[in-house]
Amino acid sequence: MTVYLVGAGPGDADLLTVRAARLLRQAHVVVHDRLITKEILDLVAPHAELFDVGKRPGFSDTQERINDLLITLGRRYGRVVRLKGGDPFVFGRGGEEAQVLAHYGIDVQVVAGITSAFAGPLLAGIPVTHRGLSHGVTVVTGSAVPGATVDFRRLANADLTLVVLMGIRRRRTIARELIEGGLDPTTPVAVVERASTDQQRVLRCDLAQLGEMNVSSPAVLVIGVVAALDLGRVGALAASYAMSS
Ligand code: SAH
Repeated sequence: MTVYLVGAGPGDADLLTVRAARLLRQAHVVVHDRLITKEILDLVAPHAELFDVGKRPGFSDTQERINDLLITLGRRYGRVVRLKGGDPFVFGRGGEEAQVLAHYGIDVQVVAGITSAFAGPLLAGIPVTHRGLSHGVTVVTGSAVPGATVDFRRLANADLTLVVLMGIRRRRTIARELIEGGLDPTTPVAVVERASTDQQRVLRCDLAQLGEMNVSSPAVLVIGVVAALDLGRVGALAASYAMSS
């Protein structure tokens, strides 16, 4: 009896790991989040039970209820897959779920997934690190949690790329704090909505304009000089060149 905490990647079923796809086919029951695409859920065997525990405004399972459900299912079924968007240990509360299950003596295995923090920029043609432009990347949450809200003034660093998850609602405050912290208002920004799905959209602006941008979740914010790059086009050109030669 094992609960597998599985990363589903950013949305496109082709970006699942081979292990994730195999576990989905073999699962007796799958407990999934709201952002999991139909294409991925279609891999689940027809006889398996599906639980949607997506948290959404006005209709949400609390984390406690999700934990209770996982414990109950973990005791009852041989193979439970807890499917989470992206990577289970990047802002998915996967760490907490692993701790709770282990505490109750339930065998847990964690399966890495492709995180939207890196796949989002990549699919917009943005390398999060790039020789001479960015020596590193910081991934942070933009959501406000009482007592644990990130102070973006302290993250203003022109040498690094900043990737913000869950940052759409507070984008105005984030931009203001970064500028107050010393980041140039003309710093390039890219907003990558619904990365890897057929609704993917990339918007570009500069930091001073971010608050005015009309964008919707789920999306990642990419802030820094690399956000002005679009290597996707270069990649597409290179691929067509290779095919024709
Ligand atoms: N564990 C997930 C992150 C969960 S937090 C991961 O590793 O990707 C949820 C946030 O992830 C969203 O608010 C959004 O910022 C980001 N996100 C998830 N899927 C996304 C996608 N397909 N495109 C853009 N952003 C996405």
